[in-house]
Formats: sequence, C-alpha cells, structure tokens
Amino acid sequence: MTTTRVLVTGGAGFIGSAYVRALLGPSGPPGVAVTVLDKLTYAGNPANLDEVRHMDRFAFVRGDICDAELVDGLVAVHDHVVHFAAESHVDRSILGADTFVRTNVLGTQTLLDAALRHAPKTFVHISSDEVYGSIRAGSWPETDPLRPNSPYSASKAASDLIALSYHRTHGLDVRVTRCSNTYGPHQYPEKVVPLFITRLLDGEPVPLYGDGHNVRDWIHVDDHVRAIELVRSRGRPGEVYNIGAGHELSNRQLTGLLLRACGAGWGMVSYVEDRKGHDWRYSVDFTKIRTELGFAPRKDPATGLAETVDWYRTHRSWWEPLPRRTERGQKANSTKVPP
Ligand code: NAD
Repeated sequence: MTTTRVLVTGGAGFIGSAYVRALLGPSGPPGVAVTVLDKLTYAGNPANLDEVRHMDRFAFVRGDICDAELVDGLVAVHDHVVHFAAESHVDRSILGADTFVRTNVLGTQTLLDAALRHAPKTFVHISSDEVYGSIRAGSWPETDPLRPNSPYSASKAASDLIALSYHRTHGLDVRVTRCSNTYGPHQYPEKVVPLFITRLLDGEPVPLYGDGHNVRDWIHVDDHVRAIELVRSRGRPGEVYNIGAGHELSNRQLTGLLLRACGAGWGMVSYVEDRKGHDWRYSVDFTKIRTELGFAPRKDPATGLAETVDWYRTHRSWWEPLPRRTERGQKANSTKVPP
C-alpha cells in the first residue's frame, strides 16, 4: 500500500493534535503518515501527542512556519498540508497584534509559497467563523463577505484570502474551512471553556464578560476534526466549507452548563468588564458541508461539555503546570451574578 504523507502545522495545539490523533487512530484512513510542524509556543503542548509519539508513522519537527527553508524542505516530501498553526486567542491579539500578523499571515504565505514550488495534492487552510464579523440574525453562507473585527480575526481573514488567491492565481489545490467555537479536551486553559472548568475544579470564581449575552455556536473538537478530514479527502479545490454544529448558546447559558457539570452554583460567577469590540453573535450556515460531504455533528453540548469536564477532572497533571492567569482572570471583580 502506498503511504499518504500529511504535514500538519500546529499539530501540538488543541485542534491540530486532535486531528493527528484521529488520523493515526483506529478509525483513521489507512496508510497515512503524519509529520507535525510546531513551534511549541505557550499553546503547543508535546503531551497532546503522547498517544501517537511511539508510532513509526509519526514524526515531530519543532520549528516556525515562517522559516522558509525549513518549510520548503518539509512541504517537498509531503502529499498533503493541513495548516492549523496560528496565534489563536482573541484577547492576546487585543493586547498585541504583531505575532498574529507574523504567524497567521506571513506564516501562511510562507507555506503557500512552498506549496507552489512542490505542488502537494491538497493544502487545507484551517480558518474560523470569526472572519465573517458579527451577525444579529440568520447565518453566514460561505459566499458572504469577510468583515472581521478583532486583530485575531483580521489576521485569519487575511490568511484565508491569501490562501484562496493561490488557488485562483496559480491553480493550487487550496481548501478553506471556517469553523465555529470549538471545545473539548487538551485545550489550553485560557479560552472560556477550559478556563472556567479548571477554575471551578480548583474552587475559584469564573469571570463572565459583560452581560453574558454574546452568542456562539459550540462544536466538539471531534466533530470539527471529522469535518476537516472530509474536506481534505473529499472536498473540492478552491472551495470554502463552513463547519458548525447548530448549537448556539449565550455565554450565560454556556456558563450554566459548565457550573452544573462541575457541581458549582452561580455564586462562583463574577462579571468582568466586557472584551473590547466583543462580537455579539457568530453563526455559520453549514448546509454546504452537510449536503456535499455528508457532515453531521454528533455531540450535543450538554454531553460534550460534561465529558470535557470529566477529562479535565481526570487529567490534572496535563493542566496544573500551565499558567492560567489571563487578562480576563486578573480583571475579575467580586460582583456576583444572581442565580
Ligand atoms: P492552539 O492555540 O491550541 O494551537 C496553535 C498551535 O500552533 C500551537 O501548537 C502552537 O505552538 C502552534 N504555532 C503557533 N505559532 C506557530 C508558528 N509560528 N510556527 C509553528 N507553529 C506555531 O489553537 P487551536 O485552538 O488548536 O486552533 C487551531 C486552528 O484552528 C487555528 O488556525 C485557529 O484559528 C483555528 N480555529 C480555532 C477555533 C477554536 O475555537 N479554537 C475555531 C475555529 C478555528
């Protein structure tokens, strides 16, 4: 059997590592070998790859996607590129956008230039629903214009457009996915779900932004990576695929589910000053990936979040050494939210 060689950038992070574990796991496609290229920033964790580290079909390279020589050598010997590597936390992009522009924009262009020289079969660019902006009602189809608001989402939108330009200009087989908010095990405890869970498990209060009414669609990481693999294996060149779950929750509803799963009450919640420029609602229309590729999300949030709480409860050694103090955590005040 011929081996399909897949280069996964950012494969030590939350979603990238779930994708690698799925590709090399018992339900993964046969004959796949994976190389992870990851800089191991604060968000990259080698422990996320412990399950696959011993496999002959797995290799790890520590390096920067902006390193053109390194990237060129790696893209040259792989059949597919699945590009997750990014600075991914909106709050950090508000404090400073330079690494976001460097990694998300220049890093993506560096990879695309290497792909142009070596013509891998597919280049899957992992993007986000945040590139569309904010929507009061209805859902964005893939054809909607991009109106990103935060430095993070603007850097992702820039990289999406550059990736698609390499298809339109050069004919490179580029496919873009734009997925909604993702949760599950192995997520660095700075984003809301793992931050709240780890704080509650330690008996600490959780900081809720503003009035808690911002709405997000929540998808389990296993559903997200299954959709990505459908796009890599069966999607079409030059196409964008929205990925969603249809599980919209306000931050207040999400907090309620997490409190219940952790056995805590509303007395553990503190209101904090809202995020600057906080997008009110995200909602992707994911009809295209459903009808074209047969994607259907499998996890409902109540079950998925309860399982995620269980994972953090039983994997303290994974998260306890990681710093959890964030700008959001530091600003927490003692105002209690009524039940
Ligand atoms: P993450 O922050 O957990 O992981 C990012 C990984 O990229 C880390 O392992 C980090 O070390 C690596 N990395 C960062 N800069 C690098 C560089 N210059 N060179 C090489 N590696 C580098 O992020 P995540 O949540 O797993 O997100 C993965 C991708 O999915 C991102 O592109 C993100 O925009 C996108 N996305 C995330 C979500 C979400 O809810 N988390 C939703 C939709 C899309």
